Amino acid sequence: MLIVGAGLSGIGAAHHLQEAFPGRSYAILEAREDLGGTWDLFRYPGIRSDSDMHTLGYRFRPWTAAKSISDGDSILEYVRQTALDGRIDTKIRFQHRVVRAEWSSEEALWAVEAERVDSGETVRLTCGYLWVCSGYYRYDEGFTPEFPGAEDFTGEIVHPQHWPEDLDYEGKRVVVIGSGATAVTLVPAMAEKAAQVTMLQRSPTYIASMPAEDPIASGLRRFLPDKAVYTIVRWKNVVLQSLFYQLSRRRPQAVKKMIRAGVERSLPPGYDVDKHFKPKYNPWDQRMCLVPNGDLFKAIRNGDATVVTDTIETFTEDGIKLDSGEQLEADVIVTATGLNLLFLGGMELVVDGEAVDVSEKMAYKGMMLSGVPNCAFTVGYTNASWTLKADLTSEYVCRVLAHMDSHGYRKSVPELADPNVEELPLLDFTSGYVQRSLDQFPKQGSKEPWKLRQNYVLDIRTIRRGAIDDGAMRFSNPAPRSKSEPSLASA
Ligand SMILES: Cc1cc2nc3c(=O)[nH]c(=O)nc-3n(C[C@H](O)[C@H](O)[C@H](O)COP(=O)(O)OP(=O)(O)OC[C@H]3O[C@@H](n4cnc5c(N)ncnc54)[C@H](O)[C@@H]3O)c2cc1C
Repeated sequence: MLIVGAGLSGIGAAHHLQEAFPGRSYAILEAREDLGGTWDLFRYPGIRSDSDMHTLGYRFRPWTAAKSISDGDSILEYVRQTALDGRIDTKIRFQHRVVRAEWSSEEALWAVEAERVDSGETVRLTCGYLWVCSGYYRYDEGFTPEFPGAEDFTGEIVHPQHWPEDLDYEGKRVVVIGSGATAVTLVPAMAEKAAQVTMLQRSPTYIASMPAEDPIASGLRRFLPDKAVYTIVRWKNVVLQSLFYQLSRRRPQAVKKMIRAGVERSLPPGYDVDKHFKPKYNPWDQRMCLVPNGDLFKAIRNGDATVVTDTIETFTEDGIKLDSGEQLEADVIVTATGLNLLFLGGMELVVDGEAVDVSEKMAYKGMMLSGVPNCAFTVGYTNASWTLKADLTSEYVCRVLAHMDSHGYRKSVPELADPNVEELPLLDFTSGYVQRSLDQFPKQGSKEPWKLRQNYVLDIRTIRRGAIDDGAMRFSNPAPRSKSEPSLASA
């Protein structure tokens, strides 16, 4: 068993695997020098979750800290502690970037090629099952559009994905370009020290305020054990978020009004809410932003932060000239312009001598690819916490492995045989970062088990409880291996 990636998903996957199969040998190959993925990489001021930790936490490990919307360091510590407690850290081989995996049906094995990031050396391993927990975006570079005149700007330009440890913005004028989760996190955090922070957005995003501490969790903690509190609050959040999502899709006008009323209440009278906080799309056509305790609105109220909705004509020596003619003076410009999506960590897949074109494949239950044997990937929900789906994926992979063990199968592969299943895009988000990369992702199907539900409660029925031998998943037992090769256990 080989897991690719030691982030929140890879560590969770390893935990499930060890619990279900204590004797099974496995390794985790991780490209970076440390575990934690996203929560180790991003170091910008204020970095935090934008969903609650009762659902972003693992099902098997209660989140016990007071803050439900948590800072990045505490999330990293939670992942690290999970790895240490299960001795999962001893299974990780750091600085190994997996670049290629080739499946042989004859051998019922993957031959995996990894590049050592430190020495450039190529490492080869074989495994019976490949589980890709590589997240969903490129680690080497974030997305930055070409800004005319960028080279003329004499201040510092920073992308949040590569935050300079020594960046000094105290007393300085900062412009943050963007309106997504990162921008709305950065603006109030930087406003604490900067002279002035301007959030420059092309168009507004839906923003809702939420208490950083869950009052129900805080209340229950006084007389219930951590595990019980976690289960209750997790379910409360799952149900409320799911209802809110459904309401957004079915009654968008009502939800728009609700969000707008919240924003209006949080801003000074007379504030131009329509201009800066009225998106052109419906709630949940794109991911919504949460701000803990309304911190963004507070920074605006206090005059520490301003929002400008306009487009950029050019960067200038001392700031940004907007299409409206306005000039924004800046010492530091932060390009919170997003991520570059990447599927399967950029790995090349080959099945029985044929290169796999991922975009021509269909995703089975949002975690396997049609025609690609003994391989799963973990990708979380876009409309709820990532880990809800990651945990379900882990449970399902373990169920498939148990089924294979008990029947003596060495190969399992989802096959698309139903001619009535129509191809649909994997995600229906209209966000630029999704639309830019959607053609590099597999499709989803119009029917079970190829349909991506993005619904935890429904997924419990189909993923946790659904039949493993469902007709789409084919099991077989190719002839046993003839020659001996280094395996994970011996490598
Ligand atoms: C700033 C930010 C905030 C977020 N906040 C939330 C939130 O509040 N709620 C939420 O649900 N989601 C959030 N997300 C999404 C977030 O990425 C997931 O919640 C979660 O951290 C993903 O975990 P992961 O392990 O699947 O992926 P990652 O955290 O991306 O980890 C993947 C790991 O795989 C490694 N890897 C990748 N490719 C290879 C390869 N080829 N070979 C070897 N190793 C490889 C990477 O180095 C990395 O360590 C956020 C994302 C960002 C960027």
